[in-house]
Amino acid sequence: MSSTTFENIVSLCKRRGFIFQSSEIYGGLGATYDYGPLGVELKRNVRERWWESMVQHHDNVVGLDAAILMHPTVWKASGHVDAFNDPMIDDKQSKRRYRADQLIEGHIAKLRSKGKDDEADSVYARFVDALNSDDMPGGLYAIIQSEEIRSPDSGAFDWTEVRQFNLMFSTQVGPIENPENQIYLRPETAQGIFVNFHNVRETARLQVPFGIAQMGKAFRNEIVARQFIFRTREFEQMEMQYFVAPGTQMEAYEEWREKRMNWHLSNGIRSEKLRWHVHEKLAHYADAAVDITYEFPIGWQEVEGIHSRTDYDLSRHQEFSGKKMEYYDPDTKEKYIPYVVETSVGLDRTILMLICDAFSEEQVGDETRSVLKFHPSIAPVTVAVFPLVKKDGMPERARAVQVDLQRSFNTFYDEKGAIGRRYRRMDEIGTPYCVTIDGETESDNSVTIRERDSMEQDRVSVDRVSEWIRDRIAAWQPGK
Ligand code: ATP
Repeated sequence: MSSTTFENIVSLCKRRGFIFQSSEIYGGLGATYDYGPLGVELKRNVRERWWESMVQHHDNVVGLDAAILMHPTVWKASGHVDAFNDPMIDDKQSKRRYRADQLIEGHIAKLRSKGKDDEADSVYARFVDALNSDDMPGGLYAIIQSEEIRSPDSGAFDWTEVRQFNLMFSTQVGPIENPENQIYLRPETAQGIFVNFHNVRETARLQVPFGIAQMGKAFRNEIVARQFIFRTREFEQMEMQYFVAPGTQMEAYEEWREKRMNWHLSNGIRSEKLRWHVHEKLAHYADAAVDITYEFPIGWQEVEGIHSRTDYDLSRHQEFSGKKMEYYDPDTKEKYIPYVVETSVGLDRTILMLICDAFSEEQVGDETRSVLKFHPSIAPVTVAVFPLVKKDGMPERARAVQVDLQRSFNTFYDEKGAIGRRYRRMDEIGTPYCVTIDGETESDNSVTIRERDSMEQDRVSVDRVSEWIRDRIAAWQPGK
């Protein structure tokens, strides 16, 4: 998919009411977006599918909705105050700021695309050493200098040093401004789960292994944030922490890796567009980590992380809070701090992936049909209802069909314009089924249902429409 296509997607999102720039009438606020009527439905469907697969389908996974604001010591314990940094470098000529690690990764990818694999391997080895060294910024800077990596926007080779920037947003709690009242907007939802470990375990009467799932907003003062909703300063995460006995974490890690990949596939994402990315640098507390990446028009990028985090988080909270985080295993009579396997996916990134994957432009006759081939369970509108013409009692009959379908599906009613145009408008927003009420409906009580992907039409009796749609949704396969 070319960059023009990415631009087409961004413009479609705005034009059809999926996503708007935040505070647009004031010129917008950088890297913050609002979801319009269709975007909201898409988000609701994705959230629901995640919750269903994580909580509803697992006896031993329960939900939580923790506050965004937390005690400031949480972020000292988690390591975010000291180490939630990105290595940044500035182009002195254009004044634009870049992530040093991403510049190097881009350089390596460029070498590979030119067939210079040996050179790419050697830069990659130095890159891994730099990431693992005590002076990471210095190591990255040295590579940028020796490889003469140029600025992507100005082409200049005129850099500042590499510096670390903390990504947390801070604010004051209460009316008095002093450093003790400084708190943070959470940069991830996971810590709300860790600090509630005992509350949830005791009240839900759970035994290890068990998981706690949560979705909600997170905030990061991202320095480089100009790829639409791929990287924003306010975003939503869907995370699950799975608590296991030490020594059993790899089994759980493998199990959740597979389940999470299958979830993306079950949403209709094409398998050839998904791949694993193993971390070059493990966080010091992690014993395994992998990302699920998707081939966006801007390249292969992370959508979800699956991390085996050992007992780091609970141990740190035990240390900083003075409260025991141990678990007593009634079967083995052992006491231990559980190990954790985490799955962490961004909702907004998932939405962008779904839109990119579903977007297609097809030649139909001498027209170009723009269509979003969403999984029907994810599409913002499942079924549109049209009277063929605005007379002869058809609008009334169409409204009655719509009211009936509304009990099970998200519907949309449209009686304006030629029927072909109405179909095209529904294709553009990804509506999988359109029901048309015509002259024959009154006599034989049947309607036409037109399918988005095949554009085929079927004649179905009015009282079987819901069932027909349900069957088609269950049998749907991505045919992109
Ligand atoms: P990246 O390397 O892209 O900055 P990360 O490794 O910091 O991401 P995690 O902390 O593992 O990301 O967060 C888990 C998930 O949350 C990511 O896979 C991504 O889907 C989502 N996410 C993280 N940061 C952002 C952001 N700024 N905007 C949108 N989604 C985000």
